[in-house]
Amino acid sequence: MSDTVVKTPCIICVAITGSVPTKADNPAVPVSLSEQVESTHEAFEAGATIAHCHVRDDAGNPTSDPTRFANLKQGIETHCPGMIVQLSTGGRSGAGHARGGMLPLAPDMASLSVGSNNFPTRVYENPPDLIDWLASEMAKHDVKPEIEAFDLSHIFRAAVMYQNGQIKDVPYVQFVMGVKNAMPVDREVFDFYVHTVRRLLGDAPWCAAGIGANQIVVNEWSIAAGGHVRTGLEDNVRLNRDTLAPSNAALVARAVELCDAYKRPIATTAEARSILGLRKGVA
Ligand SMILES: [Zn+2]
Repeated sequence: MSDTVVKTPCIICVAITGSVPTKADNPAVPVSLSEQVESTHEAFEAGATIAHCHVRDDAGNPTSDPTRFANLKQGIETHCPGMIVQLSTGGRSGAGHARGGMLPLAPDMASLSVGSNNFPTRVYENPPDLIDWLASEMAKHDVKPEIEAFDLSHIFRAAVMYQNGQIKDVPYVQFVMGVKNAMPVDREVFDFYVHTVRRLLGDAPWCAAGIGANQIVVNEWSIAAGGHVRTGLEDNVRLNRDTLAPSNAALVARAVELCDAYKRPIATTAEARSILGLRKGVA
């Protein structure tokens, strides 16, 4: 491990809710606004600096309702000063332009998928014209995209969008591994993803998410390789095979322990904003 890897503060993103997990899967999944704000606050105190957010309707189903996103954004900004708010434009909670209806709220960041792939029971459909529109909305409202790379081709697409100006600043790429029917958690692919980011985007920061039981495995790979991490109940509801995670904060604490083991400092909100090149909220 190089000194640079050791010294680079690690940004911990907590994906608090997602579109899929329910209270039946784990009662700790925050669904209502107050639950989401409280769970995010606990995770923030545990060391998370990015909150990756989805919202649910009153029945607990995923929605892209901008009002609900606005309320959650405001709650996090009030209770977790400096925390980076990242709103999801993912395809499980809406279709077409509805997926970007929250972007005029101008959150710090939003997720951006730049290609299609399969999900467990359906196609995750991201047609080029929708991708272009979402990217243009993010540029218009000064929202930094986080590129959700479900496939190697998505890293290449992000690099092209950066070169042609559709993405204004160097992309922040997240490798998503472990979604059934998409890219599995695979060490050699992970290494090649890192290599590809370096080749196409130089020293751009990157992160990785492992879906399901391998969340902790991917966390460890990222921390050891100098990347940033994502954890949270959206991706995984268990601490281990036999134990449900009691909270988002418990999953964040697990990532913090790994950072300690690899001597990676945990990024403060100011450090995270600087690493990501966010213009808002940087002292
Ligand atoms: Zn998500």
